[in-house]
Amino acid sequence: MKMRYVGQIGVYHAGIGGIEQRGDFGWRLDMVDGAKQFQIALWCPKYGVCLQCVHSGPSGDVYNKRFWHWDGNIEQPTITPSIGCDTRCGQHMTITNGEIFGTLAAAAAPKVTP
Ligand SMILES: [Zn+2]
Repeated sequence: MKMRYVGQIGVYHAGIGGIEQRGDFGWRLDMVDGAKQFQIALWCPKYGVCLQCVHSGPSGDVYNKRFWHWDGNIEQPTITPSIGCDTRCGQHMTITNGEIFGTLAAAAAPKVTP
């Protein structure tokens, strides 16, 4: 399904004006040691929002924190590899060009017939 960007970096709360429903996403931005650190905020059926660290480098652990590779696109991101929600809600998704594929999200996606 097509994702919906909540519209502003720093807006990533659950609920009205933020992450309201499946497919919604936002960005949290922190300065860490003088460098920008982005986290993508994804809708989570268990806690409302799930945050995951992203950067332009390869995916993997940096100082015990898991990072996903991000293409830098704010409104239509591509994140690799796939993301399993960190709250263990069962959600597991792939995000490509602002579209989300995977468990839970798949239910709302149109079925493609070959
Ligand atoms: Zn979750």
